Amino acid sequence: MSKKIAIIGSGFSSLAASCYLAKAGNEVTIYEKNETIGGRARQLKKEGFVFDIGPTWYWMPDVFERFFGDFNKKPSDYFELIKLSPAYQVYFNTLDFVTIADNLPQIITTFESIEKGSGKQLEQFMSEAKSNYDIAIKDLVYRPGESPLELITFETAQKVNQFFSNISKDVRKRFKNKKLVQILEFPVLFLGAKPSDTPSFYSFMNFADFGLGTWHPKNGMYSVVLAMEKLAKELGVKIETNANVEKIDITNGKATGILVNNKITLADIVLSGADYHHSESLLDENYRQYSENYWSKKTFAPSSLLFYVGFDKKLNNVEHHSLFFDVDFDIHAEAIYDNPKWPKDPLFYASFPSKTDANAAPEGKEAGIFLIPIAPGIEDTTALREEYFEKIITRFEKLTNQEVKKSIIFKESFCVNDFIKEYNSYKGNAYGMANTLLQTAFLRPKLKSKKVKNLYFTGQLTVPGPGVPPALISGKLVSDLIEKYK
Ligand SMILES: Cc1cc2nc3c(=O)[nH]c(=O)nc-3n(C[C@H](O)[C@H](O)[C@H](O)COP(=O)(O)OP(=O)(O)OC[C@H]3O[C@@H](n4cnc5c(N)ncnc54)[C@H](O)[C@@H]3O)c2cc1C
Repeated sequence: MSKKIAIIGSGFSSLAASCYLAKAGNEVTIYEKNETIGGRARQLKKEGFVFDIGPTWYWMPDVFERFFGDFNKKPSDYFELIKLSPAYQVYFNTLDFVTIADNLPQIITTFESIEKGSGKQLEQFMSEAKSNYDIAIKDLVYRPGESPLELITFETAQKVNQFFSNISKDVRKRFKNKKLVQILEFPVLFLGAKPSDTPSFYSFMNFADFGLGTWHPKNGMYSVVLAMEKLAKELGVKIETNANVEKIDITNGKATGILVNNKITLADIVLSGADYHHSESLLDENYRQYSENYWSKKTFAPSSLLFYVGFDKKLNNVEHHSLFFDVDFDIHAEAIYDNPKWPKDPLFYASFPSKTDANAAPEGKEAGIFLIPIAPGIEDTTALREEYFEKIITRFEKLTNQEVKKSIIFKESFCVNDFIKEYNSYKGNAYGMANTLLQTAFLRPKLKSKKVKNLYFTGQLTVPGPGVPPALISGKLVSDLIEKYK
């Protein structure tokens, strides 16, 4: 039966859900508060430079294939994918970096050259990681988190001990070299928690990294947003931008519509892909499922201080993706999770899309994106942003052995206050709620409201969690539930 469905927000999860719901025959409209769609994955264009504002790592290509495959399409029908080779590099000191190749055999050789015996260890670790990937990403994450029983399968029963140990311990058992430990702890950072708080089972992220590779959609991640917009429109979805949803209307315990820019729009079903905490603030208090106390006790993924920089020359000694792990990870992590404050010496990540993609910058110039993960909710001022830019760009010059400050044409920044203003993000988090053991699957905020009929939620605070591939999956899961209960 066709229903009129109003979707709040146009992030990846909302776009994915809109496609599935329209395919099922519903009348679907997306309402996005911002001028452009894509949520955290919007694009910044300036003086011939093009930057992804949010995600830059295209991982788990199989999840994208599965999404487009559900509509008898392929990613290549909409955008061109480039496998990055090398995948990325990790800096530990001045011109002291490890390059991660685009294939496992070469990565094993690199490991062996750094620590004798680590090649064999990596092979074993990756075989476990692949088996976890097959269980988690091909099956478990496609379960809606309605019940703990969803997690009990023959395969997970064999791996139950991996839910009670953590990635950090596991990696340290096998590898002694500090560089290798840091490289192997990096992928789970995408899940938003410390490696020491992330179950060993999540080593499937290591398979995503070394096993499946790092990809770049031509013209950036925003190409994926445009692809999904095109598909959604082909399926009949309507998209309204500059459409700020101010309230979700409830009549007799049922969602009946939304208030958009002061005007009521009726709907049979309301689905919110905006941050969960904000979505519930659009309801009268008695209809909210989770209290302020609930949210304040959750482990949120970090926020970020980001810079989008135009350089008037090509830079040396950097790859498309470069990680700067030259300072103590534990001290930085403590400033994010245990004792929220600005980290004294931050780790940072830099991306130079123009290394691979000629469209990212004018000829002879370089587009640079710099990201420092920080605690959500900490003070954000222009002075702090400047102080931290100076810190990292000075270190960047030293580590990569070149002068770059004088070549900056412009820089734009994005931080806690922007996450709140642009996306109504709780405490300005960047990647939603972390995937710790107690915030996994059925323990995450629910896709279906327990208090209001015909009201649903999707996105990185729900199942399966943070990241673009999980957002696509979340959109599918919530659409399946809507179809099941409508
Ligand atoms: C800096 C950064 C880097 C990242 N890097 C990566 C990466 O490399 N790889 C990766 O896979 N993932 C990455 N991620 C995570 C990934 O981008 C997110 O998990 C994903 O995009 C979230 O999608 P979503 O649909 O859950 O939410 P969002 O993208 O946040 O979408 C929510 C939408 O709701 C809208 N909205 C909010 N309130 C209202 C309202 N009242 N009315 C109307 N609309 C409203 C917002 O404007 C927004 O458009 C990164 C995220 C950030 C921020």
